[in-house]
Amino acid sequence: MINKDQKARRLFGTNGIRGVPNEDLTPEFCASVGKAIGTVFQTKNIAMGRDTRVSGEMIWSAVEAGILSTGVGVTDLGILPTPAIQYYCKVHGVYGVIITASHNPPKFNGIKCIDKDGTELRRENEEDIEFTVEHGEFKKAEGKNMGQRTFYPAAVEDYIEGIKRIITPENVKKAAFKVVVDTGNGASFRSSPELLTGLNCRVVTLNANPDGNFTSRNSEPKPENLGELISLMKTGKFDLGVAHDGDADRCVFVDENGNFVDGDRSLALIVKYFTSRGSKVVTPVSSSDAIEEVCNKNGAVLVKTKVGAPIVSRTMIKEKALVGGEENGGIIYGRHQYCRDGAMAMALVLDLMAREKKKISVLLDELPKYSMYKTSTELNEDWNEVRKRILNKAGAEEIDFTDGLKLYLREGWVLARPSGTEPIMRVFAQAKTDAKAKELADFIIGIASP
Ligand code: MG
Repeated sequence: MINKDQKARRLFGTNGIRGVPNEDLTPEFCASVGKAIGTVFQTKNIAMGRDTRVSGEMIWSAVEAGILSTGVGVTDLGILPTPAIQYYCKVHGVYGVIITASHNPPKFNGIKCIDKDGTELRRENEEDIEFTVEHGEFKKAEGKNMGQRTFYPAAVEDYIEGIKRIITPENVKKAAFKVVVDTGNGASFRSSPELLTGLNCRVVTLNANPDGNFTSRNSEPKPENLGELISLMKTGKFDLGVAHDGDADRCVFVDENGNFVDGDRSLALIVKYFTSRGSKVVTPVSSSDAIEEVCNKNGAVLVKTKVGAPIVSRTMIKEKALVGGEENGGIIYGRHQYCRDGAMAMALVLDLMAREKKKISVLLDELPKYSMYKTSTELNEDWNEVRKRILNKAGAEEIDFTDGLKLYLREGWVLARPSGTEPIMRVFAQAKTDAKAKELADFIIGIASP
C-alpha cells in the first residue's frame, strides 16, 4: 500500500496523460510511467493497444519496457479503437494501457489506463501511479522473472461480435443499407468497415488508410472537417454517413441528404428507441431538452450531470443507467459497456433504422425540435464576479446550479460555465429557432463582458 502523505505532481488529465512526444513524453518519462503501472497494478498481464499516431511506436516501446521490467507481462492487441481495448479488458478482467490522444492534432500523444472492468481508471489509482513515478520506488524483476510480451490478434473480431450480440443483426442484414464511413485515418480503419460488411451493408470507406499524421482530415468529427463525407452523402446514393474521431470512441452521423446530425439528436434518437419505462439515461446539463422529452414519453428517468465524458460514465455506473452521452457524439450503451463507443453507436442507429423501416432524416424529424447554439468568450476577470453579474441582470425565471449557471429565460435557456482548462466561458443556448438561440447566448455574453 502506498503512503501518500506527500502529494505527487499531477500527470493524468481528464483523459489520461497527454503531451508532445520527446518534449513531455520522452522515452525516459514513458518508461517510468510503465514501471509505475507495473508496480501499482501488481498483476500478471496488462493489455496494450494504440491508435495510428506515428509516435505511438516509440511511446508504446518505452511504456512496455517499463511494464516488463517489473515482471508484469504485456498482451499486445495492436492498433484498434479505444472501446475495443476497453471491451477486451472487461471480458478478460485485466488492466489496460492505451497509447492515444483521441481527436487531438497529430503532434500530440497520450497514455491512458483502463481498469479491469473496462472503465477508465479511478482517480485514486492514477494518484498511486503519479506518486510512484515521482518517488521512483519501482518493482524490479530479476532476469528469469522478467515480463513477457504475448500477442492477441483477435481483439477486433471479439469486439465486432460483442456489438452484434447487442443488436438484431438479421434485421440490419435484410435492409442491406448503403453506408459511407469516414474513419479519418484513425484506429477504426478496420473495425468499422468490417462490422458494416458483416451486417450486409454496402460500404464506401473514406480515409480508411491508417495514417498517424491524419493527412486526410482533422481527426475531430466536426462538420467543418467532414466536407468529403457530406458531399458524398449529398449525391443521394447512400442511406447513412458515419464519421469517427482518431481513437473511435465517438461517432457522428450525416443523413441521406447530406445534413450533418448534431450529436444531441443522434443521442435523442437512441434514447427514444432503446429505453423503456424505468430505464435510466445520463447526460450533462448542456444537452438539449429533446432528450428529456423523449425520456418522459418513454417513462425513462433522466439524470443530469456536470459537463464531461468521465462524469457521465461514472454516473452511469453508479445509477446502472442504460444510455448516456454528450452532444459531441460520445455515446455510451450500458448493455454493451460503460464507455463511449463509436461502433456501438453506429450499430444501434442501423438497428433502429432497420426496425422502423424509415429514412434517418424522417426518424430525426420525428424528434422534438430545438435549436442549439454553442460558443465561448474570453473570461477577463474572476468567474465569481461574472457569475454575480449574470445572476443580477439576466432576469432568469429559474436557475440550475449543477454546472456553472443554467438560466431558464422566457424563450429558452442558456448555460454559462467557466472552462476547466482555459480562461474562457463556455456558453450553450437552446431555443425554438437558431436565430433565437444565438440571441440568447449573445445576451448573456453581453452581461458577462460589458
Ligand atoms: Mg476519442
